[in-house]
Amino acid sequence: MTTVNTNFLKLQSNYLFADIARKVSTFKEANPDKRVISLGIGDVTRPLVPAVVNALHKAVDEMGDAAHFHGYGPEQGYAFLRDIIVQYDYKARGVNLSADEVFVSDGAKPDVGNFQELFAQDSIVAVTDPVYPVYVDSNVMAGRSGEMTGKQWSSIVYLPCVKENDFVPDFPKTRPDMIYLCYPNNPTGTVLSRAALQGWVDYARREGCVILYDSAYEAFITDADIPHTIYELDGAEEVAVEFRSFSKTAGFTGLRCAYTVVPKALQISDGKGGKIGLNGLWNRRQCTKYNGCPYIVQRAAEAVYSEQGRKEIMGVIAGYQRNATMLRSAVSEMGLSVYGGVNAPYIWVRVPSDTDSWGFFDKLLQQAALVCTPGAGFGASGEGYVRLTAFGSPEDTEEAIKRLRSLC
Ligand code: PLP
Repeated sequence: MTTVNTNFLKLQSNYLFADIARKVSTFKEANPDKRVISLGIGDVTRPLVPAVVNALHKAVDEMGDAAHFHGYGPEQGYAFLRDIIVQYDYKARGVNLSADEVFVSDGAKPDVGNFQELFAQDSIVAVTDPVYPVYVDSNVMAGRSGEMTGKQWSSIVYLPCVKENDFVPDFPKTRPDMIYLCYPNNPTGTVLSRAALQGWVDYARREGCVILYDSAYEAFITDADIPHTIYELDGAEEVAVEFRSFSKTAGFTGLRCAYTVVPKALQISDGKGGKIGLNGLWNRRQCTKYNGCPYIVQRAAEAVYSEQGRKEIMGVIAGYQRNATMLRSAVSEMGLSVYGGVNAPYIWVRVPSDTDSWGFFDKLLQQAALVCTPGAGFGASGEGYVRLTAFGSPEDTEEAIKRLRSLC
């Protein structure tokens, strides 16, 4: 009989969101008159902006016209999109990349989950803790995790990010091969200063590691001194891959478009005493396993960079940022310590010392009909915190804030 890849059997079922849904539905049954507001959603709620919708309509019409129809496109993405990405997201910030270092795809989640395939089976993986679960689970599937001991995998190096270290991960004692960094961070909403990120780039160069830098929330950066791309840091093109997405930038969570930057300068050992470039390997991988992001979606992504498109998406992001600012102050007024929410749509709240993540979740649900995400669901170092998101509508966020204030 055919045997399963037993690494898949090691995967822990992720009960976090199922447990939340169960508790919320029990609460609703018992309190049919109360309107539950979720501050737990990681999805956007505002629709696509008009510039994007117009570009989609136009591209759909092209697809129905024999003279302008597009079949299979380049696996790496159309030149019109790769060129504009290089221009606006990199050259405009003083970073010199070329279009063939940019790979357009249908999501940062698949890219960040798939990229580990390029590394040796026995590579050591480091993740920040709390963590976006895809980094860990994709390496569990690949057989790099070791065994689950308590709440952590024996072969994964965890870098705690907690208030005691200002949410800045310390360099690990064990040298990792791959380091997953996510900034602005999900779930903590915190960022790394230019100096701290340069420290990680220097560490990776010194130790011969690759940084897998997930920057899905880059559009939320407001502080002038926070880097928008890891390639603003000296030497990063030799050690870092960067993942970006239109999901949170422009409401593409349902449309699906993202891109991954793999600089040609980034080389790793070929296992035979020589070196090999990750750019060529990722290209080979994508050409074998991926057939390209749809033409109409890439036209929609292109519209994000038009003058009108940029104005419109910045308006939407400003709305989410207002939600974040209001939520931050409401939580501070409750006397709780609050982190993130300035350069990110996520607010990380330290729960009172007499309770834990789930205890605080229950309190918000029972006393205010509000839903948050318990931090313990993101890793051992998330215990004692909850995550709130700013992706709700302004009306729901204002109502949630009233309820939080009345809890004080
Ligand atoms: N990376 C991080 C850190 C995320 O939080 C998310 C979505 O929540 C993604 C990637 C997924 O991005 P995409 O929608 O492009 O797959």
